[in-house]
Order: sequence, then structure tokens, then C-alpha cells
Amino acid sequence: MESRERLMALFEEMADLLELAGANPFKVRAYRNAARTLQTLAVPLKQLLDSPPKGFGESMCRHVEEFIAGGRLAEMDALKTSFPPGLFEMMRVPGLGPKKVARLREKLGIDDLAKLEAACSDGRIVALEGFGEKSVKNIIDGIELVRKFSGRFLFSDAESVVDRLLEWLHREAPEAEYHAAGSFRRRRETVGDLDILAATDGGPAVMAAFLRFPGASKTIASGETKSSILLENGLQIDLRVVPPESLGPALCYFTGSKEHNTHMRSLALSKGLKLNEYGLYEGETAPPMATEQEVYEALGLAWVAPELREGLGEVEWAGTGKLPALVGPEDLKGAIHAHTTASDGLEELDGMAAGARALGWSWLGISDHSVSAHYAGGLDPAAIRKQWHEIDAWNRMHAGGGLVLLKGIESDIRTDGSLDYAEELLEGFDFVIASVHSGFTMPRDEMTRRVIKAVENPFTRVLGHPEGRLLLGREGYGIDLDRVLEACLANGVAVEINGQPQRLDLDWRKIRAWRDRGLMFVIGPDAHDRESLAYTRFGLGIARKGGLEAAQLLNSMTSDDVKAWFRARRTGRKG
Ligand SMILES: [Zn+2]
Ligand SMILES: [Zn+2]
Repeated sequence: MESRERLMALFEEMADLLELAGANPFKVRAYRNAARTLQTLAVPLKQLLDSPPKGFGESMCRHVEEFIAGGRLAEMDALKTSFPPGLFEMMRVPGLGPKKVARLREKLGIDDLAKLEAACSDGRIVALEGFGEKSVKNIIDGIELVRKFSGRFLFSDAESVVDRLLEWLHREAPEAEYHAAGSFRRRRETVGDLDILAATDGGPAVMAAFLRFPGASKTIASGETKSSILLENGLQIDLRVVPPESLGPALCYFTGSKEHNTHMRSLALSKGLKLNEYGLYEGETAPPMATEQEVYEALGLAWVAPELREGLGEVEWAGTGKLPALVGPEDLKGAIHAHTTASDGLEELDGMAAGARALGWSWLGISDHSVSAHYAGGLDPAAIRKQWHEIDAWNRMHAGGGLVLLKGIESDIRTDGSLDYAEELLEGFDFVIASVHSGFTMPRDEMTRRVIKAVENPFTRVLGHPEGRLLLGREGYGIDLDRVLEACLANGVAVEINGQPQRLDLDWRKIRAWRDRGLMFVIGPDAHDRESLAYTRFGLGIARKGGLEAAQLLNSMTSDDVKAWFRARRTGRKG
């Protein structure tokens, strides 16, 4: 996360804390507004101080200075310690914002999850004004979610920690070679803790540097070969020092998964060998192995990409030449699913195009929200025609420049399964993404029928974020995904792999189950500004975990080919 985004998050958190404290609403709003200004104002923080924008009064500027100097806000730290920590857990319950938490505390003395749970079952919350039976049920479900998700972190958050840590270690102790292992290296959608390996013969300097990491709030353990630290957000990092000549087996072992390692070990046993984190042993001796490749090779296997190491048949693939040639960043030529200021995005066409260019893409599919999504500024037919003209004009002006913009829409799937807009208008898009944005609590069967109906609509070309889950926040809507994917296959609709870090939806397990059935996939960053076009890389990680090859993703097509693919079904249907 860049510093502007970090400060933005701090301002939002500050507003929450003030609300929790029952502060003056104007003060709360000032922080929310400041956060929003930071979101839209794409300038470095220092520059912002030179000419403060509207709403950045003296106190806000002081916060910015303080943040630049030390990365924290003293007022916030003080405010935070004035509350029992249980309140923050309560705020993570979906639907319980700071205002409601403050009321529960004031009226019923509830300040942690256990008390909240008790008050749900003994009827005290139902009796409270503004909380009905339905909200009690939601709170009970929410408590379960919070408990399930506690101690887990989004991949993207772990990634920013790993980036900072590795940069620090390379600078402070350059003598070692560093590798992030564990579920992070396997690109799981969430991770519980981080495992870092340092290959070196000089351990003490590396350990000392690790324990000095500025993000650490606590040392849990420190030893010669293994130390653990805890970050302020609760993320634990373990660092292990291994001799360079056994890095191969160590990296295999600490990358996991457990299931993958079990398969590897039993394969070794079947060859009369013993595999552990120190080496591949024949009797008492193990040959030096500095790379993973040597380990796999010695077992008669091709090297398995970490993303695939989940114990789902990849060891067999590696032994029989059946490993997929996984799609890589170099295969991506473009993506769909970019919002602009026409709906709830933060940049105009030009800004999004610049972002696509920076990623080396040759096409970008613009798709704002449709008219049903009024909360997100969905486009009415007039606004759509206006955007089409703008896209045509942009493409004319930049003809031969290596980037083409495609006209798309992210159409809401209405509760009856229909799309927004009349056919005459739908026909004018290069592509239509159909997504569910409302009515999440519909019964499973009804939801399944609703989405299948949208998939069967001849104008639908992509099914957007199929499960509707928010990682560590909200379970997906109840839906029979297999039936829906069946319908996508039958109707030639591509399935989105939404790259937003908290979505990563379609789930990679489903992709893995469906990868060889002929379904087409497409990574959509669901970008609302140019930087978040790079969320495509998170989607790529999920595509790789799903075992996809370049040819299974629309993203690897040229602009002409992808346009032809989008057109094919419609003409096929009509003819
Ligand atoms: Zn959406
Ligand atoms: Zn979207």
C-alpha cells in the first residue's frame, strides 16, 4: 500500500473511533471527507501540504505532517487505548458500525463478542430500539464469521508486509538469500502467518536484522535458526535460517501444503528414500540440494509451481508429464472490468487507459455500473451513448497507439434474472458482464435460477464475481455454482476471476475442478482507478492456482480476437 492509501485508512479508522466515542458528528465527517479527498487526489502527500485542498484545515495538515514523519497519528493511538479491545472485534461483525457498537455499550454494557452473543440469546438486543429479530440473527451469524476469520489476513495485505520485510532484510543483511514460503508462496487467498527462509552460513546478523524490523511490535521467540515476531495487526512472521546447500528441501517443506508434502514423502519412501526439511536421505546421508528442482528431479518429478501444491493430484501430474503450462504475467494482453467517473470510478477514460498502457496491455474493457445500481451511479441510456461516443473518439484519436478501449457494462442481474436495458442498447456493447449486486439473501434455488437466466441471456458474455463473497467479511450468496458454471459452458459465457483482493472470486478450487471442461475464464481487476488495474495480478495468482493455461483466459487474446470472441455468440444465436 502506498502511503497515501495508508493515511486514508487511518483517517477512516479515526472517524470510526470518534464515532465510537460519541464525538461531534462534524468532526467525524471531517475525517471521512479528508479520507475521500486523499482517495481522489492522486498527488504525493508532501505536495498536498504545499497547497492544502478544500477541507484540509490546520489540524488535518498537522496529521499529514505527523504521518509523514512517523507513520502514525498520536491522537488516534491515544483514542484507541481508551477503549476495551473487545469493541473493535464487535465492529468487525457485518452490519455493526461504530454507532451501533457505541449504543450497545451504552445501553447494555456490551463490550466484547461473548457479551454480545449472550445478549442476542437472552433477548436484550431484540428489545433495544433499532434492533429487530432480523438484526439479531445477522449479529449471531456475524459473530461466527468474525471468529472464523480472526487471525487470517488477505493475501494482498500479506504481500505488502513481505515486500517491506524483504526490502529491509536485503538492505540490513544482504549476505543471505531470502524466500517467502508457506501459504503466501502458494498464493492462498488468505494467510494465517508468514514463513520466511534465509539461506546463509552467517545466521546471527540475519536474525538481528529480522528482530529489528520496524513493523514488529513484539518478539515471540528468538533463536539461532528460528525467530518469530508479531506485527501490530496480529500477523506473525517466522524466519528460519538454513544452510544454502539444503535450501531445496527446506523450501519444499516450508512451502507446503501439508497434503502436497505428504504425497512427496510417500513417493520418496516408495523409492527407499526419506524426505524432510533437511534433505532427501538415502540411509544416513543426503546429497546437497540448493534448489527445489533437484528435489523434484531426484524423485522423478517435474518441478511443481508453488500455486499448485495443494495435494489435488499435482504430484501425479508432475510424474506423468501432465502439469499445465500455467498462464504467466507475460501472457496477459488486456482485461475487462474497469469503472470510470461515469459511475463510481475515480478516473476518466484517459486515466484508465494510461494505467492499462503502464501494464503493457493492448486492450482494456471499460465497464461501468448499470442503471439499477443507482447507489453506484449506474448509467442511464443517455449516459451510455455519451460514453460510447467518448470511447469511439478516444480510439480514433489513439489509433495505432497500441491500446484499444472496449465498450462494456457491468449490468446488474435483477432479482428476476433479467439485465438492465433494452436489447437495442445491449446490442451496442462490445461485451456485457452480468453481476449480482443486490438481493444476496435470496433462497439458494431461486438465486441459482436467477443467475442462470442471466447467463442464458444472449447478450451476457461474462459472469461477474460469481460467488459474491468478500474474503474475511461476507460469505458468498447461496448458489449452486456447479449448475451455474454448467450454464456458462453451455451458453459460451466466460466466467470472471475477479481480482479485487477481498473478492478473488471465482474461487480457485472451483477453477481447478472445472479447468479441463472447456470453460473460458477472464481476469477482471474490477478497477476503480488506474492503480487498481494491477489487481489483475491477484486474479492471475488465482488462475494459476486453478491450473489454467494462457489459452483458457480471454486476457491472453489480442484485441481483435477478444472482440471476435465477444461477438461470436450473439451472431451465432441470431443466425
Ligand atoms: Zn460488481
Ligand atoms: Zn465492478
